[in-house]
Amino acid sequence: MKAVVVLSGGQDSATCLALAVRRYGADEVAAVTFEYGQRHALETRFARRLVRRIPAIVEGRPDARVQHKVVKLGFYGSLTTNALMDPSVKIGRKPGAKCPNTVVEGRNAVFLTLAAVWAKTLGATELYTGVSEADYSGYPDCRGVFIRAQQKAIRLALDYPIRIVTPFAHRSKAYEWALAAKLGILDVVRKETVTCYNGIPGDGCGECPACRLRARGYGEWMSSTKTTR
Ligand code: ZN
Repeated sequence: MKAVVVLSGGQDSATCLALAVRRYGADEVAAVTFEYGQRHALETRFARRLVRRIPAIVEGRPDARVQHKVVKLGFYGSLTTNALMDPSVKIGRKPGAKCPNTVVEGRNAVFLTLAAVWAKTLGATELYTGVSEADYSGYPDCRGVFIRAQQKAIRLALDYPIRIVTPFAHRSKAYEWALAAKLGILDVVRKETVTCYNGIPGDGCGECPACRLRARGYGEWMSSTKTTR
């Protein structure tokens, strides 16, 4: 096995999965999805579908799929809470807050560590994650400085040469849409991923910050294709 993809079921991680499969082939890629008590268990259902749909398209064979593991972190909500995990909290940003109340404290640190443990078990040295610093909402564990430190920490913790691959670290959503089109997965990303904070698949609710970011990127990409034609 070459690579493990942290697959949430959203646009970023779905596109990461396609990149890893194109690079190494479905048989050399595994995906892991974490259930940490997010409002929408739906994400896992979409992730389960993506591990078949995306390899089938990228490899052009219907039976292609990547090994997939769903890891339940049901205890997470006993340690912290936020608007993604608590339906009674309205999604938003408090005045003066550095990031929206959808931040799940330490999520990427935990996910990457656990994914790395599995990667070592599988003999994979690359960890793909869809985090983005360019479009990000101020989440501290999406920053490049964190990713670099985390890679170093994992290497020391596991004594293993893991490499954290972040294809979208400095890329816009418009770039991701263009890439999805190039990889032939545009329709899958549009209709079969969940990015919306309100858990509505595809184009989502259209109102939450995640939907607005996604729609704005799509609009930018669409207008760029028109001007180049
Ligand atoms: Zn939404």
